[in-house]
Amino acid sequence: KGYLVPVNSCKIIAVANQKGGVGKTTTTINLGAALAEKNKKVLLIDLDPQGNASTGLGIEHDQRGITTYDLLSGEATMDEAAVPTSIKNLSIIPATTDLSSADIELMDNEKRSFLLRYVLHDAADAVAKYDYILIDCPPSLNILTVNAMVAADSILVPLQSEFFALEGLSQLILTVRDVRQSANADLRIEGIVLTMYDSRNNLSIQVEEDARQNMGDMVFKTVIPRNVRLSEAPSFSMPVLEYDSASKGAMAYRALAREVIQKNMKKRV
Ligand code: ADP
Ligand code: MG
Repeated sequence: KGYLVPVNSCKIIAVANQKGGVGKTTTTINLGAALAEKNKKVLLIDLDPQGNASTGLGIEHDQRGITTYDLLSGEATMDEAAVPTSIKNLSIIPATTDLSSADIELMDNEKRSFLLRYVLHDAADAVAKYDYILIDCPPSLNILTVNAMVAADSILVPLQSEFFALEGLSQLILTVRDVRQSANADLRIEGIVLTMYDSRNNLSIQVEEDARQNMGDMVFKTVIPRNVRLSEAPSFSMPVLEYDSASKGAMAYRALAREVIQKNMKKRV
């Protein structure tokens, strides 16, 4: 009989979907908080110039002197850029609007898709302090999202339980294929998580059926319900796990964290 061990010392997961408003930031914050609650050391990297993950965790603008942009441009190290949050085991590298894809595109650098990969690679000691690094991507397949895919071990895709949800998925998977061919052959799909699920709504049920039929095991068993506490929590600058620990949203993200941890264990004999 074997026992389970973590696959890697640090797992880097990009939370990506080019559609806006599907639950990327909510998933990054709350999956991160749920992993941290299970005593995993977690770093979030805010890769969206809108900085919603930073705001949702209460990182004030005067705490954003060093940002993801400084990290990518080589102006700051991982350790300098990481800011602790009010949650134990959870830090974030915050973002501000200076992280626009236009700025990155202007960088005089042949390898601008590799900026984040090189940063993480060169900072092996800093990376090894964490069990998980979650990257909150912008709502686009731009150079920032490509940087995340090139740097990550896997991508986690939040899929909003609504009509047309699956339509954008083929484009996302094509981009993953491109990245695998050109830059990161090992990029995996961590999974697809249905968000804003309403079990009383036939459409949610239909989207779930379609997703499971087409994507099978790639779809997490856990679905994230539509839950008002999840949408309220950011305005109180906290993850829902802290804002309302017993809410359906908090319980769902804890279940998702369990699945993620389980997927990242392997049997050793
Ligand atoms: P994205 O990062 O993909 O643009 P967000 O995570 O910011 O999406 O979510 C978009 C909006 O929907 C936000 O106002 C957020 O609070 C809300 N939201 C996200 N997930 C849920 C959910 N499960 N239940 C209710 N509201 C949600
Ligand atoms: Mg977002």
